[in-house]
Amino acid sequence: MSRIDFKQVSKRYAPGLPLTINNANIQIDTGEFCVFVGPSGCGKSTLLRMVAGLEDITAGDLLIEGQRVNDLPPAKRGVAMVFQSYALYPHMTVAENMAFGLRVLGSNKAEIDQKVKAAAEILQLTPLLDRLPKALSGGQRQRVAIGRAIVKEPRVFLFDEPLSNLDAALRAQTRLEIAKLHHDLGSASMIYVTHDQVEAMTLADKIVLLHTGKLIEERGSVAQIGSPMALYHRPGSLFVAEFIGSPKMNLLPGTLRSAEAGHAVIDVGGQQVTAAVDARHLAAGASVQIGVRPEHLFVADEGAGSGVAGSLLHMERLGDSSLLYVNVGAGLPTMTVKVEGSASNPVGQRLTSRLLPDQLHLFDAQGMACTRTVDLPT
Ligand code: ADP
Ligand code: MG
Repeated sequence: MSRIDFKQVSKRYAPGLPLTINNANIQIDTGEFCVFVGPSGCGKSTLLRMVAGLEDITAGDLLIEGQRVNDLPPAKRGVAMVFQSYALYPHMTVAENMAFGLRVLGSNKAEIDQKVKAAAEILQLTPLLDRLPKALSGGQRQRVAIGRAIVKEPRVFLFDEPLSNLDAALRAQTRLEIAKLHHDLGSASMIYVTHDQVEAMTLADKIVLLHTGKLIEERGSVAQIGSPMALYHRPGSLFVAEFIGSPKMNLLPGTLRSAEAGHAVIDVGGQQVTAAVDARHLAAGASVQIGVRPEHLFVADEGAGSGVAGSLLHMERLGDSSLLYVNVGAGLPTMTVKVEGSASNPVGQRLTSRLLPDQLHLFDAQGMACTRTVDLPT
């Protein structure tokens, strides 16, 4: 039994509006760190607020530990939520803010004090317990908001973009703290909402990527569920392939020439390229797109091996690596190639981007991926 089950859950905010959530089926296991990720407006907060009991469910069932909770009030669900805006009481100290929820529930003072102390230790807030929120940094305030959730000892923690108001350095640090918290709390499940694919990749056991498709029926539906490595190595569609990974996957239009069990041959820009994918369900002559991540392209002198030839438009130095932007011909998108930081290539240089069969993805005209036939990390 999973801890949380969305069974064919849909949500329409008002009659006449399109579905915000369209038939979501999601399972979250005990102790799992599950991240809901997707572009702004795809319905992440709506899904999370349904678990919290802050939004009605239009159709389908939401189960927590096997029990249908569609109509259960928020306080009875065993969940605690941390918001992007910390929502602390300005006139209460850190300790009072953390204790408030328990006091409302009528817990006894000794028990409350002990829980607040323990949470403050975990979050390194002990020296700050007597301060007011206005005397705290943004990162410290967010830790108090997390502390307020911890003292409730919930079965499920819900986070809605908790790091969005922090600057980049503090975001990275707080991200680590949340990962550690999940580890320390053991059996508590976490659902974490973010629009940032890096947060999703680094924190999640399981990623749920939501669509904002061009078609109404795609919106608010689940694009793919899987581990970070599964979404990175085996994106099921163009949408997933383009959302996960930075810089984005390169895409090149082509035509399928032939398909066998272990590989397919594709015409791309007048060249033949082999990809380790199963495209046998597609007809020869079908329009396809080849996908290859910048880190999986290798540059060689023009003419060396199979690949696409082009000229270097621009080079961006990141220190540990550099990005080459390569013009591979009229009508084709500029390719991004990730190379070593020490590489130095002059603008205008002619070079070939090698396409290695094991590193290629193939998408059909509808944007669905062909199964890759190589062993990949999971
Ligand atoms: P996300 O958190 O992924 O950015 P939300 O879940 O907040 O997205 O919103 C998803 C969609 O539902 C958006 O199009 C938004 O405008 C719409 N929406 C959210 N809340 C309401 C509401 N109370 N009434 C009507 N539409 C809403
Ligand atoms: Mg949101």
